[in-house]
Amino acid sequence: MSNPSSELISDKTFMGQPRGLATLFFTEMWERFSYYGMRALLILFMTGTTMSENPGLGFDVTTAAAIYGLYTSFVYLLSLPGGWVADNLWGQRKAIYVGGWIIAIGHFSMAIPSDYSFFAGLILIVIGTGLLKPNVSSVVADLYPQGGAERDAGFSVFYMGINLGGFLGPLICSYLGEGYNWHWGFSAAGFGMVLGLIQFKRGYKYLGDAGTFKGAGSVEEIRAKERGFFTKTAVFAGLVAVFAYLVSTGVVDLTLTEIAEYIGSIILVLIAGFFLYLFFRGGLSSDEKKNLGVIAWIFILAAIFWSGFEQAGSSLNLFARDLTDRVAFGWEIPAGWLQSINSLFIIIFAPLFGTMWLWLASINKNPSTGVKFALGLLGLAAGFFVLAWGAAQATVENPVTPAWLVVTYFFHTVGELCLSPVGMSSITKLAPRGRMSQMMGIWFVATALGNLFAGLVAGRLESLAPSSLFMNVAIIVAVAGLVSIVASPFVKKLMGDIK
Ligand code: GLN
Repeated sequence: MSNPSSELISDKTFMGQPRGLATLFFTEMWERFSYYGMRALLILFMTGTTMSENPGLGFDVTTAAAIYGLYTSFVYLLSLPGGWVADNLWGQRKAIYVGGWIIAIGHFSMAIPSDYSFFAGLILIVIGTGLLKPNVSSVVADLYPQGGAERDAGFSVFYMGINLGGFLGPLICSYLGEGYNWHWGFSAAGFGMVLGLIQFKRGYKYLGDAGTFKGAGSVEEIRAKERGFFTKTAVFAGLVAVFAYLVSTGVVDLTLTEIAEYIGSIILVLIAGFFLYLFFRGGLSSDEKKNLGVIAWIFILAAIFWSGFEQAGSSLNLFARDLTDRVAFGWEIPAGWLQSINSLFIIIFAPLFGTMWLWLASINKNPSTGVKFALGLLGLAAGFFVLAWGAAQATVENPVTPAWLVVTYFFHTVGELCLSPVGMSSITKLAPRGRMSQMMGIWFVATALGNLFAGLVAGRLESLAPSSLFMNVAIIVAVAGLVSIVASPFVKKLMGDIK
């Protein structure tokens, strides 16, 4: 008798993909809806005046941007333990489901108007996303055990789900949050996540055994491992809470910006140590060492890229609020609506780029990884040059047209389409034997570091004019892009046969 679950998996009924992909597509779509919907409000809410009918928290830009950077950074950093929990304790499905509920509770917590529930909400979303985000992607991979082009096609469809959520979330949450009440916007994010979870649970039957627990060990051994993990986590969380208390009471004299800077430095030192350890003591062959060098290079470039790109929700969002004229037909468009543009452009242009890379490959002209990274950085730099130009003409009294931001996001999206898909896939190909998931983790750390720097850079808006800030970012990123072009032949050599 044939195995019914594998029949279900191979039944292609969703855009030519297995039906199970629809389940994961909509789970990720709703999760990103909640993430980007809330993120569109986050910095506006934190810096919003307390003296309004829809009161914000009244934080200064530096503090708000540091919180934004720490929050968005930890969202990605916690995918490391999140992936570990799924692999070793729970299986992906349970991690996604539990993580999703933690996210939803986090958003609902932010819907309560108090400082404590606000910060509790951010912490819950960080934990929940760490459990959910990396594991949805692993289950997608699981649906295509054969890998190769079919899996790539599955991921392209899945990426559309991410961006459909990224498109709709800011539209709905900003409409409610900016227009009526911040906390309604946060609730809408929570409801979106709950819809995603109901849909996910109902779709288990389409997943076959993808995402079920496949780790080794008896039930007792796993329970013991679980107890060990949660005890350590509780101790660590306790220490963090004590530290937070000491900072908030002024016993430890550190600003949030300084904390973010220290965390960034610690992450950098740890990653450098990890690379050096692997290089000298990891028992790697000389080819593997060369590939590891390329991964380190990709890590640096990706961190620089995200540190510009991820300012979308911070400095670019503030620019939209303060320096663009958003009145159309007598109605002021919420600033957060401009957060949807990147996702909209991805939905429009991703298929075009996919076709273009395939066509270039067919005539043997596919740019190398190093060149694609350079194009990504140069696209990002072009966006920031445009924005610096626009910002130079904008004042609070005479705001400029939002078209400046639209063009900026266009260039940023082109950059993302050159760099992001190729980054992840080249890392999987370059990873040393048996270190695949660690190297995927490195990719997430690069994103986390980028988000942290994005917050720190945006915090400079407190003292620097927007046009100078954006110009500085544009120059640094452009230099990184040019260095990447110059380095690309060496990178190609180091990569050997890997395409
Ligand atoms: N927009 C994509 C997502 O949300 C990628 C973001 C990133 O890796 N920084 O999944």
